[in-house]
Amino acid sequence: MTTNIRIDGERLWNSLMELAKIGATEKGGVCRLALTDLDRQARDLFRRWCEEAGCTVNVDKMGNMFARRSGRDNTLPPVMTGSHIDSQPTGGKFDGAYGIMAGLEVLRTLKDFNYETQRPIEVAVWTNEEGSRFAPAMVASGVFAGVFDLDYGLSRTDTDGKSMGEELARIGYAGSEAVGGRPVAAFFEAHIEQGPILEAEKKTIGVVNGAQGQRWYEVVLTGQEAHAGPTPMRRRKDALVGASRLVTAVNKIGLDNQPYACATVGMMQVSPNSRNTIPGKVFFTIDFRHPSDETLSKMDAAIRAEAEKVCKEIGLELDFKQIWYSPPVKFAESCVSAVRTAAEDLGFQSMDIISGAGHDACYISRVAPTGMVFVPCENGISHNEVENATKEDLAAGCDVLLRAIVTHANG
Ligand SMILES: [Zn+2]
Repeated sequence: MTTNIRIDGERLWNSLMELAKIGATEKGGVCRLALTDLDRQARDLFRRWCEEAGCTVNVDKMGNMFARRSGRDNTLPPVMTGSHIDSQPTGGKFDGAYGIMAGLEVLRTLKDFNYETQRPIEVAVWTNEEGSRFAPAMVASGVFAGVFDLDYGLSRTDTDGKSMGEELARIGYAGSEAVGGRPVAAFFEAHIEQGPILEAEKKTIGVVNGAQGQRWYEVVLTGQEAHAGPTPMRRRKDALVGASRLVTAVNKIGLDNQPYACATVGMMQVSPNSRNTIPGKVFFTIDFRHPSDETLSKMDAAIRAEAEKVCKEIGLELDFKQIWYSPPVKFAESCVSAVRTAAEDLGFQSMDIISGAGHDACYISRVAPTGMVFVPCENGISHNEVENATKEDLAAGCDVLLRAIVTHANG
């Protein structure tokens, strides 16, 4: 591409700050839940800005928005970028919003320079990425990618029983376009890292290779309730002692599979939870994550073996269920290398990185070659009102996005 084209970092920052006013919280964050009136206002603003940048905006039946800038050959599949405009209840200004505003800034920059690409370019807003109002997360990019069907997506309800379908109609974003089923030449998502690695390594750009696979479990250990006084130690079937040994085992399995493994017990219920009764039953969860499926399977085998052993030793009954499995995501080499090359050409310090969180890009990668650009966020904090990033890093990520998009849009 023409090497002198750069995005306008000031304009990108100002757009982010303008968008962050919609749903602004007192602590400087954003609360803009999916399909609320605030979501509509943010969507309306995005639509207006895109139309001013010479794009047409289409909406599909899941409320996904696509702002399209024509190319020289509009019969070719577009190069797409985008993210989400909804937030957590105590969210920040950058999670999701950055990917959308960076896409808009790419459109505006290409317009400023009268730069025509071979393929059309689209900026997508994926509905309900966060999953905090309607579970599951990333449901609309999931429908686009064929992971969920349309009826499933539209029938998700919030805690008041309102469905996504009703709420889309109410805010005027129940579009007419079919969801997915059309070719996308490549998809790129720019996002803040939401972790501490880039900042710690003093790198401006994270070249995202993919996302971790996950296995979630629910475990119930059943022993025997008994009086804490008269029951001798050797006669006990203490379910919490078993659970404690397994918490330690989970942690050890995480440490044994570094640098990438994450292993967490985050929830536990002890029954009867009484100070002078030996716990008869314990329920707890396990969350395993790793970018390699092979290692994830090894971790799975290790915890199952340990659970059997511990229960046998203590005399507990074991109920061990895997309740969710999400395979590791490996992004397309053509997209990953486009991001890496763009960062090198622009002289930014970069490193390869694996996403610890899920993103719309993870689902889109099932139907289109996909890549992601990460930029650092302050102290690695996200899903928090204090979430912060620098103007310079955000601009750098957007310049990388521009180059990666243009490379694919002319290829
Ligand atoms: Zn996000």
